[in-house]
Amino acid sequence: MFSEDYKETPYWWDATPQPDVKAQPLPRHVDVLVVGGGYTGLSAAIQTARAGMDTLVLDAENVGWGCSTRNGGQVSISIKSSYHELSSRYGAEAAFNILQEGHRSLKWTEEFTKTEGIDCNFDIVGRYHAAHNPAQFKKLAASVGKDPKGLEQDAYVVSKSEQDNEILTNAYHGGLVYPKHASIDPAKYHAGLLRLALEAGVAVQSHCPATNITREKSGFLVETSNGVVSAKKVILATNGYSGSLSPWHRRRVIPIGSYVIATEALPKELMDRLLPKDRIISDTRKVVYYYRPSPDRTRVVFGGRVSLAETNPKLSAPKLYKTLVGVFPELESYGVSHSWMGFVAYTFDELMHCGEDDDLYYAMGYCGSGAGMAGYLGMRIGLKAVGAADGQTAFDNVPFETRPFYKENPWFLAPSVLYYKFRDALPI
Ligand SMILES: Cc1cc2nc3c(=O)[nH]c(=O)nc-3n(C[C@H](O)[C@H](O)[C@H](O)COP(=O)(O)OP(=O)(O)OC[C@H]3O[C@@H](n4cnc5c(N)ncnc54)[C@H](O)[C@@H]3O)c2cc1C
Repeated sequence: MFSEDYKETPYWWDATPQPDVKAQPLPRHVDVLVVGGGYTGLSAAIQTARAGMDTLVLDAENVGWGCSTRNGGQVSISIKSSYHELSSRYGAEAAFNILQEGHRSLKWTEEFTKTEGIDCNFDIVGRYHAAHNPAQFKKLAASVGKDPKGLEQDAYVVSKSEQDNEILTNAYHGGLVYPKHASIDPAKYHAGLLRLALEAGVAVQSHCPATNITREKSGFLVETSNGVVSAKKVILATNGYSGSLSPWHRRRVIPIGSYVIATEALPKELMDRLLPKDRIISDTRKVVYYYRPSPDRTRVVFGGRVSLAETNPKLSAPKLYKTLVGVFPELESYGVSHSWMGFVAYTFDELMHCGEDDDLYYAMGYCGSGAGMAGYLGMRIGLKAVGAADGQTAFDNVPFETRPFYKENPWFLAPSVLYYKFRDALPI
């Protein structure tokens, strides 16, 4: 199943290799030090630098090495919980405001990439959300038109008999189309943010982990592998790669591997039959599969969670391929050219979180849906660090929960995935 040119790097890196940012001497003092150079960190840094603050972004690996150049490039409203669930937890007003942030993040990503001239194939292709069993189709169909006033999402039902217009498969029982959802080339988006950050005067250091943060009388001392930097403000943008640097945050995010393959190039005629409308696709399983055509419509980029414990791309590829061929039997004649993975950050309430603790800012926990939201919340947290009123978000007053006995090892992950896979197999 592996093609001759098989690689274990993200498909996106073929067109957009990892950036080669020239190392500069580390400044001894900055106004803002951002830890993590993905969408969250760069987007925050663009705001602080444009407001005239000396800003340094550090990444432990190459800047952009994390999820931000590895994801599936599906851009939606990003919030998994329903209005009903959020209302029962936080009250109706907070629920409304949280969901509104999701709508804003999608719109912001479209407008920001356009106005800033980021060439990243942002296209409003629409999502087909497929029902993996008849009961889920009924639930999806019943949900249409039930959004509260002000949070209406365009969506329409596609029955199983009409499904070929969206996707050529017998694997699903109909679904919903969300015409406003979009696709993006994730690595090109990251490269665009990096360009804007550098143009704004941000200093960027790859391969420079922050190893310790100490609070001073005013500001912080940040130890790094290349020396110590003092900073008035620190922004944590480490998401699924949050390690020992801030134990408080580490106890609140659960790193979960997400795995992706890309097929070798397919004939145009085949792609036009399998995915005629260029939609991004997801399904109703709790352990979801997500996929789409590549921007040039030559490959299927297919992702999901394939095993209980973390594994490696060589072992995840055959499992993903089996599911892919289950959806599209015709792909059995084509191999896999790329297989990779990355760590998303789940949270205990399935919501992203951002906030501030006395000049220490953070935005993280996108639960696998940060392609649009991370840049958006990065922008907000950057504005917050600047002291702008626009830095407020609906997440500011939402408690960022942890659980007893969770420090760094998500011991409950394998049993949870097993439970959800079992539930997904039931006809409910
Ligand atoms: C395989 C995969 C598929 C996905 N698909 C989708 C999708 O289709 N749609 C969607 O909405 N979302 C998707 N996501 C999620 C999305 O990519 C993320 O939510 C988003 O990129 C998070 O961006 P970030 O900047 O917060 O984190 P990241 O891009 O992960 O960046 C965090 C960075 O912090 C750095 N770091 C960590 N610790 C330190 C330290 N001590 N010092 C310095 N640097 C440090 C890391 O090296 C890393 O580069 C996917 C994720 C993965 C992995």
